[in-house]
Amino acid sequence: MNFEELGLSAPILDAIKDCGYDTPTPIQEKAIPHILMSRDVVGLAQTGTGKTAGFTLPMIEILAGGRAKARMPRSLILSPTRELAAQIAENFDTYGKNSKLTKALLVGGSSMAEQIKILDRGADVLIATPGRLIDLFERGKILLNDIKILVIDEADRMLDMGFIPDIEKICSHLPPIRQTLLFSATMAPEIKKLTEKFLSNPREVAVSPPASTAVTVQQFRVNVSPKGKNAILEKIIKQEKVKTAFIFCNRKRDVDALSKWLQGRGHDARPLHGDMAQVSRTKTLEEFKAGKIPLLVCSDVAARGIDVASVSHVFNYDVPGAPDDYVHRVGRTGRAGETGRAWMLVTKYDDKQLNAVIKRIGKEIEIVDMGGERSVSTSKGDTGSRERSKPQSNPKPSASKPPHSAQKTPNVPKKKSSHTHDNKNESADSAGFGDDVPAFFK
Ligand code: AMP
Repeated sequence: MNFEELGLSAPILDAIKDCGYDTPTPIQEKAIPHILMSRDVVGLAQTGTGKTAGFTLPMIEILAGGRAKARMPRSLILSPTRELAAQIAENFDTYGKNSKLTKALLVGGSSMAEQIKILDRGADVLIATPGRLIDLFERGKILLNDIKILVIDEADRMLDMGFIPDIEKICSHLPPIRQTLLFSATMAPEIKKLTEKFLSNPREVAVSPPASTAVTVQQFRVNVSPKGKNAILEKIIKQEKVKTAFIFCNRKRDVDALSKWLQGRGHDARPLHGDMAQVSRTKTLEEFKAGKIPLLVCSDVAARGIDVASVSHVFNYDVPGAPDDYVHRVGRTGRAGETGRAWMLVTKYDDKQLNAVIKRIGKEIEIVDMGGERSVSTSKGDTGSRERSKPQSNPKPSASKPPHSAQKTPNVPKKKSSHTHDNKNESADSAGFGDDVPAFFK
C-alpha cells in the first residue's frame, strides 16, 4: 500500500515525499483510513512505529478540509511529557507545511505569556501536556468548545505519571460529539476504562513493537558494589566505543551527581531531568540530538519519547524500578537497523528488580565481569539459579560474538539522515506482551 491509496490529498502527499517516506508503516496503514472516516480509534502502538504521523496526517487532512469558528482550536493532542509534545509539534509542522493550519505548543516550563499570545492569534491545533492545558483553561485563556478531534498519546505513560484524573477533567470540558484517538503501548485496565468512558465504538488497531529496535541490541549486566558504580561505569565507557549514550539513573539527584563526576573525570556529560529549567532541558536535548554531547545522564521521564538517531549505547546506572522502563531505556539504541549495546550495573540490592526485568524480557542478560565486586552470594531462590554461571572473564563479550544481524523489517520506519524532525522511540515498549515476548528480545 502507498500513501496515495490511504486517501490523503496532494499537499500532504508532497510533504510526506519531502520526508523521504516511501510507504506507510503498519500503524499508519491501519489507523489512517479509520481516522479519515471520523471513527474513534484505539491504537496499540509504541513510539518508533510511526504512530505520530499515523494520527497527525489524517488530522491535517480533516482540518484542512474544514473551517475554524472564529479561529477556535479544533484539535487537541495531549502528551505526557514536554519533550514528546515538542516532537509532535515538530512533526505537525513538517507534515502540515503545505497547509495553512496553525498550532500552539502548550507545555509547562515555558513562558505562559508567550503561549497566550499564540492562542490569541488563533491556533487550529493545541499540542499540550495536561497540567499546562488545565492551567490555561482555568485562566480562561483557551476555549475548548470547538474541539473536534482529541488525541491522547502514550496513554500508558499518562497513567504511570498520574495524569488520568487530568485527562478526565479535560474530557469533561470538551464537546461530547467529537472524534477521539487514543494511543498506548499497553492496555492496562485503567486505560481500558478510559477508552470505554471517552471513546465511542472505537476501532482497535494494533502493531507489534518495531523489531529492529532491539534485534540489534546486545544487552549486558555487570555486578558492582554501590560504591563502585562510577568507576565501573567509566571503565565500560572507556572500553566501549561510545559515540552517543543515554545513561539512565533512577533518581534525579544521581543524575546531577553522576554527570558532575563524569565531567570532573574529563567526560563531556550533561544532565537531563524534570527539575531542570525548561530552557536548559531544551538546549541539552538539542545538543545531544545534534551529536554535540556524547553522554546524556538522564531520568526516565525526561528522556521519554526522545527520538535520537544513532545512539550507540544505553547505560542503566541503576536497575530500573519498573521492568517496562528497562525495555523503554534499551529501546533507545539499536534503532533503525543500527547495532547498539546496553549495559546495566547491578548491585546486591537489585535482585528483585533484576528478576522482574529478566522475566519481562523473557531471557537472561549476559553477565560481564568488569572486576566489580558483588559482595553477597546470589545463591538464593531464583536469582541464585539464574546467576549460577560465574561472571565471565571476557570483558568484551561482544568481541566473541557477531552482532545480531540488523533485520530491516518493512514495518519499521526507516530514518532518513537528512530528516531532522525524527521523533522517537521509546522503546520497545512495554508490558502486556504476556508470554508473547517480542521477537527482538529473543
Ligand atoms: P513515531 O513512532 O511517530 O515516533 O515515529 C518514528 C519515526 O519514524 C520518526 O522519526 C518518523 O519521522 C519516522 N516515520 C514515520 N512514518 C514513517 C514512514 N512511513 N516511513 C519512514 N519513516 C517514518
